[in-house]
Amino acid sequence: MIKNYLLTPGPTQVPPEVLREISRPLIHHRTPQYAALLANVKEEIKYVFQTRNPVLIFASTGTGAMEGAVSNTLSRGNKVIVVIGGKFGERWAQICKVYGIDVIPINVEFGDVVDPSEIASALKKTPNVKAVFCTLTETSTGVVTDIEAIGKIVKDTKTLLIVDSISGLGGQEIKTDDWRVDVNVAGSQKGLMLPPGLAFVSISDKAWKVIDQSTSPKYYFDFKKAKHSLDKNQDAYTGSVSLIFGLKESLRLIRSDGLDRVFARHRAMAEATRCGVRALGLELFSKRPSDIVTAVKVPANVDGQELMKKMRDEYGVGIAGGQEPFKGKIFRISHLGWVERFDVITALSCLELALDEMGFTIEFGKAVGAAEGVFKAQRSAFK
Ligand SMILES: *Cc1c(COP(=O)(O)O)cnc(C)c1O
Repeated sequence: MIKNYLLTPGPTQVPPEVLREISRPLIHHRTPQYAALLANVKEEIKYVFQTRNPVLIFASTGTGAMEGAVSNTLSRGNKVIVVIGGKFGERWAQICKVYGIDVIPINVEFGDVVDPSEIASALKKTPNVKAVFCTLTETSTGVVTDIEAIGKIVKDTKTLLIVDSISGLGGQEIKTDDWRVDVNVAGSQKGLMLPPGLAFVSISDKAWKVIDQSTSPKYYFDFKKAKHSLDKNQDAYTGSVSLIFGLKESLRLIRSDGLDRVFARHRAMAEATRCGVRALGLELFSKRPSDIVTAVKVPANVDGQELMKKMRDEYGVGIAGGQEPFKGKIFRISHLGWVERFDVITALSCLELALDEMGFTIEFGKAVGAAEGVFKAQRSAFK
């Protein structure tokens, strides 16, 4: 028998209360019942985004709303700045290129974080940059970007700040309005503790004005059409009824915890994970580590892919390996969403057992003990 623990940075674990809601008998999406449901979640989701602006909801994965963010705000030939510090920064650039957008990349060594002043100088050097694209938590490298500082640079220009918060929202603080994020994208299967299948995007007044001028082709991800429907508590097409049932419950759970406690819990779990892996003599991959996922360098003489597979297939502990070009070179332990202290302990304990089996010298309990020390010191984060 094997018991499975899902500790990947998406999909994440779904709480039983949410699973129960998702399994409700379906209702039709053109009914007063569904409209009431949508009226509730479209307001409650603003709390997690820390915004007063509308948040559109799409039946798609996060990437759909990323594509919509590009196709709705830009037109062929526009110039944009894209921060590329990992796989998801690359995705912004790839989507932009598909729409004929001229991408000015700011390349960041993977594992490192962009210096906001680089964005300031790129904006100074190039006139008429329509948008700056960033990633809040670059899930592929475990790094968190300083969106607040970038917002200060972009806010007084005509340029939009467009952020991929797909893995960050609900785990890593993002103050959409205060930090002046114009378009903020999220997904259901990460910090929001839901299965995959919903995408969210908040849009500022500044962005709506730009959206009016965009000539890029769009149909399903037409933000104006989606907003028009949402204003009437409707989906433009068939709503993801079951996931919206679940969303109402997950938003209720987040609200009843309170965002401050959600963030404190993620911070403490991230610190415990970092202390744990360091106690084994391992090195972090991220120069500015996020609160939602910890990326660790695989020690020399250990095959990272094999480590990840051993933990998953022999112990049932699903962590993430590295994505290209770091496949086999890093592993990533997620502490995102419906995760508590003993999820971290499970991951670290399994890491000790698996590394020991692979011939890496381990003193059992070192990682676990270090994490417990953090949990003792930070008890208040879990109250
Ligand atoms: C997971 C993730 C995505 C992709 O989301 P999908 O739901 O798979 O489309 C994009 N950006 C980041 C930072 C992610 O972590």
